[in-house]
Amino acid sequence: MPEIFSATALRREWDPFQYSSLFFFRWKRLPFPARPSGRKPVAITFDDGPFPGVTEQVLDAFKARSLKASFFMIGNRVQSATDLVRRAFDEGHDICNHSYSHTRLAWLEDGVVTSELLRTQDSVERAIGICPRYFRPPFGSFRRRQEPLALACGLHPVLWHVNSKDWKGIAPDGAALIPRVSKKIEPGSIVVMHDCQPPTGRVMGAMLDRLMDDGFEPVALSELLPF
Ligand SMILES: [Zn+2]
Repeated sequence: MPEIFSATALRREWDPFQYSSLFFFRWKRLPFPARPSGRKPVAITFDDGPFPGVTEQVLDAFKARSLKASFFMIGNRVQSATDLVRRAFDEGHDICNHSYSHTRLAWLEDGVVTSELLRTQDSVERAIGICPRYFRPPFGSFRRRQEPLALACGLHPVLWHVNSKDWKGIAPDGAALIPRVSKKIEPGSIVVMHDCQPPTGRVMGAMLDRLMDDGFEPVALSELLPF
């Protein structure tokens, strides 16, 4: 019996959705800020950029509709595409931290985790003059006991409610992503996508139109979360 219990506990510890529900439990019950549009706010988030060729398409789609997103950027990509980081920031999107080298953090020593976070904070600050305040661990690989490490760097861990799985089995036009996301999304949802995936860049305009037709308004995380 003890083995079974410990195995269950371990699975809970590592399952990003379990982790996600722990951190999102309170948020789901908070009243969402009213939107002047009358639409229900949702947050579309993009991991693993900036990625020249795709990030621009995503930014164009949001700009054309005056909507906002959040970009969880990899520190070592920030340095090679500072123009894209600046453009996303200037257009009103949240710039967020997705570690420096996109590694699984859960097994690493505290000092290495802190270094992964702070190197990215530094890279973003050099590009736009301010530090991110949201952090998403690559692969959702993070432990509850590591949360204070992020908070000490001024970062709140943020996972997701809706996983678009846009890295998996998607035809080049990306059309399959629209039902995949719109079936699961609800008011206040945080959706994870990847602005390094060409189908995601191609479908983004049509996806935003569909979400707005369904009564949603994509906003930046900072407009949705209470911190
Ligand atoms: Zn990632």
